[in-house]
Amino acid sequence: MAFSTAQPVPGSSELRISQSATAEGTRIYLFRVLSATGPQDIRRFAGVRFSSSYILHALTRSVTKAANPAGSDTKPVFAVFEGGRQILATAGWSGRAESRRSLAPWLPRWEVAGAYSGATVEGIARGQFRRDLLISLLALAALGLAAFATFTMATRETRLARMKSAFVSNVSHEMKTPLALISMYAETLESGKVSAPEKVRDYYRIILRESRKLAGMVENVLDFARLESGNAPIQLEPIDLGGIAAEVVRNCDERLRLEGFRVSLDIEPELPLIDGNHQALSQALLNLLDNAVKYSASAKEIGVAVRRAGGSVVVEITDQGIGIDPSEQQRIFEQFYRVGDPMTQRVRGAGLGLALVRYIVTAHRGRLELRSTPGKGSAFSVVLPAHAAGASPS
Ligand code: ADP
Repeated sequence: MAFSTAQPVPGSSELRISQSATAEGTRIYLFRVLSATGPQDIRRFAGVRFSSSYILHALTRSVTKAANPAGSDTKPVFAVFEGGRQILATAGWSGRAESRRSLAPWLPRWEVAGAYSGATVEGIARGQFRRDLLISLLALAALGLAAFATFTMATRETRLARMKSAFVSNVSHEMKTPLALISMYAETLESGKVSAPEKVRDYYRIILRESRKLAGMVENVLDFARLESGNAPIQLEPIDLGGIAAEVVRNCDERLRLEGFRVSLDIEPELPLIDGNHQALSQALLNLLDNAVKYSASAKEIGVAVRRAGGSVVVEITDQGIGIDPSEQQRIFEQFYRVGDPMTQRVRGAGLGLALVRYIVTAHRGRLELRSTPGKGSAFSVVLPAHAAGASPS
């Protein structure tokens, strides 16, 4: 047998330690020389043989655990000491031990020391702590987010349910009033009790106004349901927005004049066409005009202006009415939403008009803008991109 090292174990002149490299790994021998002709020429000996893996893994497992409380995968390194003198070390052993363990009672003078290559236990523990903390924080954030999402969804559902039931009662109430007025004035006329031509004309006018209101409301509800179902996508074609605005104003002109309104119409010449749907845009502008009328209170001045702005065409409908509080200006575009103040509540409505306008404008790849000051009035602008060819109407 060839020994790579063979030193007497201190305290016993004949007890020696040696290691040899074999195909299965390093082997360690602890033996007593029985006969020898010289220090390196041993003839007979007796002792025990350990495989290095047994020493390094089985015997030192406790050292690993002690040195690696956090279970890090940093590479462990070991050294074996005999009487305080290092007799064996794995590659990467720096001489700095994180933990030591005696191999007594069977190898009383031996000790195994463990450490981590390129790291200290404190550093590993700190890193592990940071990692654990980060994971906990992430888990906490995910939990918080999920709770927030659930809460928001539940709140939105509750709000929508409340608004829907308000809508149902609003609509039925709104329909009842014009129906009651229509039937009352029609009955009076039918009875023949009213003969003054002026009165008769007034009654016919009321019937016409109320039936228009009713028709408008039914139109809005049906349009909204149709568009929201996605079954009737809006078809676009190059059209003249100024012409649509003029037509809408023309159709309401007489009624508005009779109600004491002054409506100014200002259409810039040579406007480019837009990609639009005649019926949908008429409905949107009519709703905005209708709101300007409904929420004008005593200042009966309405302006409708159509102009070019960069690559867009803008229709602006202004009134000098009750205005909208800044805190409400986002919400009024939600379906079924109505401002809660008494001035608005006095006016009839179902909270669908602006939601429908927004829907139509979005379908035209446009945007809806609002400037409003409570007590001074509002300006709603429909901004629609000009038709790509930018042609003017002939
Ligand atoms: P409705 O008029 O049927 O209530 P809309 O969706 O058209 O429903 O409008 C939503 C709300 O926005 C109205 O209830 C009203 O409070 C507010 N609003 C809309 N247009 C105006 C306006 N021109 N001036 C003041 N408030 C307005």
